[in-house]
Parts: sequence; C-alpha cells; structure tokens
Amino acid sequence: MSTITVPDVELANGGTIPQFGLGVFQIPPDDTAEVVREALEAGYRHLDTAQMYRNEKGVGEGVAKSGVAREDVFITTKLANDAHGYDNAINALEGSLQRLGTDYVDLYLIHWPLPGKDLYPATWTALGDILRAEKARAIGVSNFQPAHLDRLREESGVVPSVNQIELHPLLQQEELRAYHRGHGIVTEAWSPLAQGEVLAGPVLAKLAEKHGRSAAQIVLRWHIQLGNVVFPKSANAERLRENIDIFDFELDDEDMRSITGLDAGRRTGPDPDTFAG
Ligand code: NAD
Repeated sequence: MSTITVPDVELANGGTIPQFGLGVFQIPPDDTAEVVREALEAGYRHLDTAQMYRNEKGVGEGVAKSGVAREDVFITTKLANDAHGYDNAINALEGSLQRLGTDYVDLYLIHWPLPGKDLYPATWTALGDILRAEKARAIGVSNFQPAHLDRLREESGVVPSVNQIELHPLLQQEELRAYHRGHGIVTEAWSPLAQGEVLAGPVLAKLAEKHGRSAAQIVLRWHIQLGNVVFPKSANAERLRENIDIFDFELDDEDMRSITGLDAGRRTGPDPDTFAG
C-alpha cells in the first residue's frame, strides 16, 4: 500500500473531500473494478463516477475487492440527465446506491443544469431531502454557471458544497472560480488534463524538465496549488501512480504564471448554457 498523503479540503456544509482522486469516465464497466482496486492500492481514496458512466457497479466491486474500508473512501456519483425532477432524482439515487453496494454516497451532484428543461431547482430540492435523509453526506452540482447557482441560492437557500466544472490550463475559468470563492463553493476540475490535449507544448516541457516531472504531474500540481479538487482519469497502472505522485514538490510563482499564460478559453466539452443532455 502507498504512503502518499493527499490533503483534505473542507466543505462548507460540513465534512471534507480528498483534494485528489480518480475519475472513471470512459473506463469500460468490465474493467472498472480492477482499475479502482489498483488505484486504491496506489493510495487513491476518492472516486468520481456518474450514473451516465454505467460503471457504478464496477466502482462498488473495486472498493469491496480492495480491502479498504468503505468509510475510508470518498465516493461521488452524479444524477443522469434523464432523471431531472424531484421524484426521478430520489429514485435515481436509490439505483446508484444499489449498484455501488453502499447505503450512502459521500457526494451527489446534479450532472448538468439543462436550463432548457428548467427542472434543476426541483431536482435540487430532492438533493436537499437526500442530504437530510443521510443518503448523501454532501450535495453539489456540476457544470453550473453563476446564473444557475444564483437561482439555487435564491429559491432554496442551500448553497452547493461543490461545483464540478471543465477546468484545465486551456480553460482556466477565473470568473467562475472567483464566484465559488465568494460563496464558499469548492471548485472541482473535470478533464484536468484536457483529456491529454494540454500535455504537449514548450511551456509544460520546460517546467517538466525544471522539476524532473512529467507534463501531467506539472498540470496536476498547478491544480492542487490553485486549490482545485482533481480526479484525472487513467486506466493504466503506471499512470495512476504517476498522477498521484505530486505532493512532494512545488511550483513557484513564475511557474504558476507561465501556466496561467496558456489560457485559451477553449472547451473540450459542451457549453452548459446550451447543452440539452
Ligand atoms: P482527463 O483530463 O483526466 O484526461 C484523461 C486522459 O488523459 C486519459 O484518457 C489519458 O489519455 C490521459 N492521461 C491521463 N494521465 C496521463 C499521464 N500521466 N500522462 C499522459 N496522459 C495521461 O479527462 P477526463 O477523463 O475527461 O476527466 C477526468 C474525470 O473528470 C472523468 O473521469 C470524470 O470523473 C470527470 N468528468 C466530469 C464531467 C462532468 O460533466 N461533470 C465531464 C468529463 C469528465
């Protein structure tokens, strides 16, 4: 077992979340249990899945096989786009709990706001009830823009613990991160490596050489120093170990600024304002 210690980040509504974990998007359902087991062996204690990834069962099996106690692993899942609305959201969580083989998740997120459906406020009410029933230890959202977050605050008074957004050196989301800081919302960065797209190029190559690290480790360390919660995806045992091995070096201010200079406002995924699921 690994001895790497990942820092915890405080959640505004109580509890903490490990700042680093494994994202399992696009890991085939049949491979997921083994990848999760390997990750837990390498020291990962935070797993990010979703109903739409179709691999929650593998996540649960991987945790069970690993020998790591359920209460020592932070599990996030996300509500599927076809399950917005109060009753659907409650029922969808029951399905997740069954597939994961657990009686609670650590964090339950609304995966996308789908503003065209206009059901995210009712869906959020359901997540509040799920929190009160202790079937989720924390609740949050993903891909929400400031207008969507404002509406949740105004209509429910309950602020999401996290907002999970596309965020990497090519899309640095300064405005949304500032909103989060102002409202005590933790920023989670999805596609932290821009699905590998960001890794080529002279700026990261130079930093990689300076620190004797890979470009992926430089980018992940940049996220950690910004305060983002990250969960890069890899199904490869060597890369799993490489990605978590970022807690024994530091980027200096100039290194951080040179990565800031890579911002291109470029999304690899859909625009949350128009995405319809
Ligand atoms: P990512 O940025 O983590 O990139 C993953 C890809 O990068 C891998 O497939 C691999 O090709 C490459 N990679 C990983 N480690 C590497 C290394 N050390 N060296 C070189 N290449 C490496 O992209 P992602 O999987 O899209 O995002 C991570 C997680 O974020 C997902 O698994 C999922 O949990 C979450 N996510 C959430 C949403 C959302 O809408 N909420 C959307 C996309 C992803």
